[in-house]
Formats: sequence, C-alpha cells, structure tokens
Amino acid sequence: MEKRDELYAGKAKSVFTTDDPDKLVIVFRNDTSAFDGKKKEALDRKGAVNNQFNAAIMEALRKEGIPTHFEKRLSATESLVKRLTMIPVECVVRNIAAGSIVRRLGVEEGKQLNPPTFEMFLKDDALGDPMINEYHVRSFGWAEPEQIETMKALTFKVNEVLKKLFLDGDMLLVDYKLEFGVYKGEVILGDEFSPDGCRLWDRNTREKMDKDRFRQGLGNVVEAYEEVGHRLGMSFEY
Ligand code: ADP
Ligand code: UDP
Repeated sequence: MEKRDELYAGKAKSVFTTDDPDKLVIVFRNDTSAFDGKKKEALDRKGAVNNQFNAAIMEALRKEGIPTHFEKRLSATESLVKRLTMIPVECVVRNIAAGSIVRRLGVEEGKQLNPPTFEMFLKDDALGDPMINEYHVRSFGWAEPEQIETMKALTFKVNEVLKKLFLDGDMLLVDYKLEFGVYKGEVILGDEFSPDGCRLWDRNTREKMDKDRFRQGLGNVVEAYEEVGHRLGMSFEY
C-alpha cells in the first residue's frame, strides 16, 4: 500500500489517498482544537495516543459486530481505513449531562440521563455545528430515513459496548460523538473514537479524563488520555 496525495487536512487529522481507490490513510496529528477551532494547541504525543487508542476501540467494536472503516494500524500515528462518503452529521449519545446540553437546557452537570439521549449536529464549523433533527437530515438530503435509523441504532449499540468497557476500567462514559459514512451502499462507522470526542470521568472521583481538560485548561491532557488507555490494558508506542 502506497500513501499518495493529501485529500484534506482537518483540525486534528489529515487524510491521504492511496494506490487503492477504496482505502485512505488517516494521520493523527498532535493538533488539538476546541470551540469550533477557536482554541488551538499542539500537544506532544497526542497523535500517537489517539491513533493507537482509536485502533483498539475500533477493533473492540468490530468484534461486537459494529461495521467500521478501520482496516489496520500502519504506524504510531497512521491508520488505514476504508474510503467513505461521509454523512455530514455528528451523532451524540449522552449518558450523563455535561457540555452543551447543560448550557442549552439549564440542567445540572452530572445528572444521570435515563434513557440516554440521542442528538444530531450538522458538521459545519462556520455555523458552530448547530443541533438538527431527523427532519432536517431528510429535508436537506444529508441522509435517507433508513440511513438515519442505522446511524441511531449503531450509535446506541456502541454505547452498550463502550459503557461496559470503560466501567471495567473504573470510568464513566458520559457522552460521545460518532461520524458515519457510506461504503458500497452501507452505512458504517467512520472517523475516530478517542478521548478527543467523548467525555470520560473517573468512576469514584468524577475527575475528567478527556478533552474537557483542554477545553477548561485543566492541564495534563495527554497524560489523562494515556491513563484512560492504561486502565483498558493498552500500551503506547511513540
Ligand atoms: P474535522 O473535519 O472535524 O476538523 P479531523 O481533523 O478529524 O476533523 O479530520 C478528519 C476528516 O476526515 C473529517 O472531516 C472526517 O469526517 C473525515 N473522515 C473520517 N473518516 C473518513 C473516511 N473513512 N473516509 C473519508 N473521510 C473520513
Ligand atoms: N464532540 C466532538 N466534536 C464536536 C462536538 C462535540 O467530538 O464537534 C463531542 C464532545 O467531545 C462530547 C460530545 O461530542 O463528548 C458532546 O459534545 P457537546 O454537545 O456537549 O459539545 P461541547 O460542549 O463539547 O462543545
């Protein structure tokens, strides 16, 4: 497999074409951003940690029957994935209230949500990723009704798998964001799952172990991501 041209560079990852038109290389960079790109910093080791963390989580999800774009890890910071036509919708499940829902609905951070909520946001930094509903997705043609159902079902299935996985490491999966795309007519999980795109709290102390450490200037961001990985039995190479 040969890495060719840069297809696009996002805020945290760069995507390259390969000699196989169905495959892409994703490079996880150290760049970290929050508030739709308004706060930015490069954090040592983060690209490597997120690439290897994501690889382990995608493998765990595949074993539980969730179709993903992940093919294999190529190096400390690079992975090979299936090339998807991305659906520009971020799917978010929340088990505990935190972040934007606290501001939007005036609820207390830490409130247990029963059942967990499902929300969708349009992936558009210029608009600040506005919240949208199923009708927006259908009316504007971002996805078909069956594709929306598949995204929702897979997002909840990921919750069942990952809530347990993190709890076994004494962590609470507070919320997370997933992105999906279409590969040969099928909706499958794309992008990444890492502490950059979810909230994880220590089960006993409720200490934040995710990107909120960066958003809120709490420090030790990558150290916390590494601790999450270590608790799940991962080790990292740099
Ligand atoms: P952002 O676009 O939010 O700045 P990233 O820096 O993570 O995010 O960039 C990665 C980009 O690659 C995102 O736009 C994401 O939707 C896209 N992407 C992720 N997985 C795939 C895939 N398998 N095929 C095509 N594009 C993908
Ligand atoms: N999230 C993300 N990318 C985004 C927006 C949100 O990965 O562009 C994740 C975020 O890390 C959290 C979840 O989705 O785990 C819910 O985010 P929220 O709506 O609370 O927004 P925030 O306050 O984090 O911007």
